[in-house]
Amino acid sequence: MTGRGAEQTKERTMKDGTMNVTVDWNLCDGNGNCTAEAPEVFALNDDDELDVLLTEPGEELRAGVEMAAAACPKRAITIEG
Ligand code: SF4
Repeated sequence: MTGRGAEQTKERTMKDGTMNVTVDWNLCDGNGNCTAEAPEVFALNDDDELDVLLTEPGEELRAGVEMAAAACPKRAITIEG
């Protein structure tokens, strides 16, 4: 059901930028809570799987990303930086 490749089964971490957003795909169940808080960063695709649209969102999106992480019942979202 996940349809995700092996490279996405664990946390993804990217370098550079001021803020890195990673999702632990082993925890995420695609309930979509985060998409309501930060739709610029998180979206559900046609298969109801979460896509991270921006792994290095700008500072103007930090509040939304933090709210999304807080709203995640699985605690699957990690913010670094
Ligand atoms: S709120 Fe958490 S569990 Fe739900 S889709 Fe977002 S990252 Fe996944």
